[in-house]
Amino acid sequence: VLETLIYIAAGLIAVGVPVLYISLEKRKSARAAETLRKAIERGLDEPVSLHPFIDPAICIGTAACVTACPEVNVLGIIDNRGKLISPAKCIGHGLCQAACPVDAITLVFGTEKRGVDIPFIKGNFETNVPGVYVAGELGGMGLIRNAVTQGKEAAHFIADGLSGQRSGEVLDLIIIGAGPAGVAAALQAKVEKLNFLLLDQEDLGGTILSYPRQKLVMTQPMELPLYGKVTARELRKEQLIDIFTDVFAKTGLRVQSGEKVETVERAEQVFHIISTRGRYVTRRVLLAIGRRGSPRKLGVPGEKSDKVSYRLLDPEKFHDQHILVVGGGDSAVEAALALAEQPQTTVHLSYRRESLFRIKEGNEQRITEAFKLRTVVPLFNSAVTEIQKDEVILEQQERKIVLPNQYIFVFAGGELPADFLKKIGIEFTRKFGQA
Ligand SMILES: Cc1cc2nc3c(=O)[nH]c(=O)nc-3n(C[C@H](O)[C@H](O)[C@H](O)COP(=O)(O)OP(=O)(O)OC[C@H]3O[C@@H](n4cnc5c(N)ncnc54)[C@H](O)[C@@H]3O)c2cc1C
Repeated sequence: VLETLIYIAAGLIAVGVPVLYISLEKRKSARAAETLRKAIERGLDEPVSLHPFIDPAICIGTAACVTACPEVNVLGIIDNRGKLISPAKCIGHGLCQAACPVDAITLVFGTEKRGVDIPFIKGNFETNVPGVYVAGELGGMGLIRNAVTQGKEAAHFIADGLSGQRSGEVLDLIIIGAGPAGVAAALQAKVEKLNFLLLDQEDLGGTILSYPRQKLVMTQPMELPLYGKVTARELRKEQLIDIFTDVFAKTGLRVQSGEKVETVERAEQVFHIISTRGRYVTRRVLLAIGRRGSPRKLGVPGEKSDKVSYRLLDPEKFHDQHILVVGGGDSAVEAALALAEQPQTTVHLSYRRESLFRIKEGNEQRITEAFKLRTVVPLFNSAVTEIQKDEVILEQQERKIVLPNQYIFVFAGGELPADFLKKIGIEFTRKFGQA
């Protein structure tokens, strides 16, 4: 009897374990397929920059790529093959490629449907326009550490090329953008004793400033000139911003923030830079402007007022206020929800369409609830027409609305840097899913 029982148990294990395994895998595959379906439905199925292409003919479904990816729910296994299931969330860590045991992954730019423009750059980071250089994500390589490395190297090449030509009359270098690439370039420019300026339309930190609060940032050790090594591999967004602030305090580096560069014009041997705050003449220009563009403006009277912002860092500061948030995407919704949590604050959300579009499921649920409770008051089909000191004027289907107002947060998307770069004369290659 015992022997029979042992055979039965062994039989059950032999059949049961694979059945259980297969059913768990099927469930995981269905969940991944659902995530991808939603991403497609919401128009979030195109990766922004460098991303993996997984060849289904080579992939054997080990899920090593899924485990290696530091971002949550970006890669998944569908029908035993690796797949990018939240394409728009991929930021190009590239760890999936290294982890794949059968070399099924290639890192590519663009997709068959949507090309990505990569500027033409030489080995010394100079573009086809002599004297104009590119470093960081704009050149196609994302990630903080890559941007830092390129920024340092570009500034070094620029200094090398300038030797013997320096003069006190014009600047040696203007660095546009104070993200990781621009900051590292500025530190290196200080080491090289260049006469330079660092300008940013927003503030130091670049794209890092726009990460969600407390986001876990995965990076690799990096060396910042004049400051030393940053060894942490994982840290919160706020800790990383603190490091950048400390770098500025310890090295005496300065950034001219809130200064957007509008044109770069080539003259004989120099460049004339026109920004929202001034005009400069420089011998070299380093574009460290990333790929995310500039926040789109409303273009209405009063918009230059200090009460208008294009990002929200500390919602806690905005208690006891009348606030208008403009926009219908995730950033606008997340800002409106965070502001609505502050005591004694009224929040209106103005959006030009008749309903919200392409937002994350969790945000959709939370904002629908907030609309019901009137903690956020929706103003669909509306547009701001004028901003005054204590009021904002909107038009909603030919009806004029005047709201008491102390702050306005605008999340109307970004203007891509392509036009700005084309005006400078920079050439691109368009990649449709190429390595
Ligand atoms: C949500 C999210 C999460 C991420 N997580 C990670 C992570 O965990 N680890 C990691 O390594 N990377 C991560 N990244 C990628 C990383 O943030 C970028 O690759 C990196 O910031 C690129 O640095 P950069 O200096 O090239 O450009 P950016 O950081 O984009 O900086 C460009 C700067 O240029 C300024 N600028 C643009 N145009 C002008 C102009 N005309 N005039 C003046 N200033 C201008 C902008 O205001 C900005 O400050 C993430 C990206 C996102 C979006």
